[in-house]
Amino acid sequence: MTTRRTFLRGGVSGVVAIAIARYDSPAHAQGAKVSETDPQAQALGYRQDTTKVDKAKYPNHDAAQKCATCQLFQGKAGDAWGGCPLFAGKQVSANGWCSSYVKKA
Ligand code: SF4
Repeated sequence: MTTRRTFLRGGVSGVVAIAIARYDSPAHAQGAKVSETDPQAQALGYRQDTTKVDKAKYPNHDAAQKCATCQLFQGKAGDAWGGCPLFAGKQVSANGWCSSYVKKA
């Protein structure tokens, strides 16, 4: 039997679930652009322009690698910026790169 209390409890958890779903959705990823001076960006060697990556520090980097072709990029094809789970709530440049790059399958 559904009592008022269980109904309200279900309603509250439903609202929380919707809030979490909205937070996780790519649409929500339209936040600020990741700054290269952000500590996480520096730790991962993120650059907004893949051609500016430090070759001495990342000898395996190839200028053909960029966020737009990375498995983790959440933007659509043609988007200049998009989300990345490594920078939650922020956007990375489609022409950017970081040391966690994984080529899209
Ligand atoms: Fe770009 Fe991929 Fe690094 Fe995210 S993980 S910043 S999409 S290269």
